[in-house]
Amino acid sequence: MYHGLTHGAASAILAHASQELKDIFLPKMVSCEWTGTMNLTEPHCGTDLGLMRTKAAPQDDGSFKISGQKIFISAGEHDMAENIIHLVLAKIEGAPEGIKGVSLFIVPKILVNDDGSLGERNGASVGSIEEKMGIHGNSTCVMNYDDAVGYLVGEEHKGMRAMFTMMNEARVGVGMQGLSQAEVAYQNALIYAKDRLQGRDVTGVKNPDGPADPLIVHPDIRRSLMDQKSFAEGGRAFCLWAATMIDAAHRSDDKDADGLVSLLTPIIKGFLTDQGYDMTIKAQQIYGGHGYIEEWGMSQFTRDARIAMIYEGANGVQALDLVGRKLAQDGGKHVMAFFELVKSFIKENAGQDDAYDAEFLEPLKAASKDLQAAGMYFMQQGMTNPNNALSGSYDFMHMFGHVCIGLMWARMGKAARAALAGGTSDTEFYETKLATGRYYMARQLPATALHLTRIQSGGDTVMALEAANF
Ligand SMILES: Cc1cc2nc3c(=O)[nH]c(=O)nc-3n(C[C@H](O)[C@H](O)[C@H](O)COP(=O)(O)OP(=O)(O)OC[C@H]3O[C@@H](n4cnc5c(N)ncnc54)[C@H](O)[C@@H]3O)c2cc1C
Repeated sequence: MYHGLTHGAASAILAHASQELKDIFLPKMVSCEWTGTMNLTEPHCGTDLGLMRTKAAPQDDGSFKISGQKIFISAGEHDMAENIIHLVLAKIEGAPEGIKGVSLFIVPKILVNDDGSLGERNGASVGSIEEKMGIHGNSTCVMNYDDAVGYLVGEEHKGMRAMFTMMNEARVGVGMQGLSQAEVAYQNALIYAKDRLQGRDVTGVKNPDGPADPLIVHPDIRRSLMDQKSFAEGGRAFCLWAATMIDAAHRSDDKDADGLVSLLTPIIKGFLTDQGYDMTIKAQQIYGGHGYIEEWGMSQFTRDARIAMIYEGANGVQALDLVGRKLAQDGGKHVMAFFELVKSFIKENAGQDDAYDAEFLEPLKAASKDLQAAGMYFMQQGMTNPNNALSGSYDFMHMFGHVCIGLMWARMGKAARAALAGGTSDTEFYETKLATGRYYMARQLPATALHLTRIQSGGDTVMALEAANF
């Protein structure tokens, strides 16, 4: 997290700050001598940043004096770096109301002299460090800014635009965090399932010399392990696919790739962290009571994975962003491009191999149809009653995630078949890939049908009760 935040802060400075600020701050951030933070949240405002109170007063020398309190600031204080470069959102005196009046500032912990050496301590200090459920390796700080010297990044009142450079990067990073927690929990669960002896295989004893068979013989343990494995590998492919598009957008200015990544970012963040957390619980469950006690370390994965669903915009808000903003972005161009991508993949690869068609392409087609039907429902119903769209946004984020991973498995299935047909020396690897993909397509991807049914039931049952009746 320390370096992830530094990378994100450096990206925002690179994209939006003046050359002078870049020259002062970037080299030491890139070399990791200085770390970075992002400061949005305040005690009374988390999701609704328009309520922000932190103030910025312009000074004669072009700098600003920043005053206010930020909370939950990851990596806000520590002694692992010479300096900490806080990126702080604040409102310049007289700024427009709400989110349109927010500007972004660099506020260093220690001021930097003209010659680049460190000078006086700035008016930025840590009020306290939070006690929390997990991620104990990261300091989560209350930050107090008392007339701290700050430097404007980008234009006045355009702070959210600049901060989104950091937030979008961080959202993909947090999605990876959810996926990684699932992966490490799975690796541990797998070792345990092969080692722990309990019960006998219902189809015949597998470990006649021992008092019992290992857990991995039991179908219900297999179901859980296959859920974890197929998610971890499919999710990894999804992240790598997104990463190649991010590279294409950054390095060749590919606008289509940029648009697609923008559409997929809330899915990477929301779906992978929700599923990642679920997978850590599945892995913990394989340990039975030994997963609940601290000795084996499994509860730490669950505790650490939980935050990824909350920070960088809680997952409900990711779903809101997806349905309320990203679907209609650029006239719906990017979601149409995604549907087209799935459709053309199916078209190009169908009819060559009956087993591949039935096991991979047909399930992908069905799930993609569900997703399109949900999109259509939002278009027809969302305009007349926004509650209909927003009651289904969470389901939509999850069904979209499943279709993305389904597409990844269809692609991996294709590659595996080609490798096997081409006489690979690693038959076991590719057979395992195919079997894992078949599992995802048969047992995970059909979840889109349930999500669609929920979405199409509309918002009436969701909103039926008066607040007093809860
Ligand atoms: C360990 C940790 C580290 C953090 N690190 C940072 C950091 O480095 N920098 C930083 O600025 N912040 C950080 N945060 C803050 C984090 O980003 C916020 O907690 C998060 O964005 C949610 O804000 P909130 O807690 O105020 O919840 P609220 O905004 O009060 O939301 C509460 C719940 O209501 C939902 N909700 C809110 N509005 C809507 C709506 N319009 N429609 C539907 N649902 C809605 C949310 O999804 C959420 O589930 C961190 C938090 C924690 C716990």
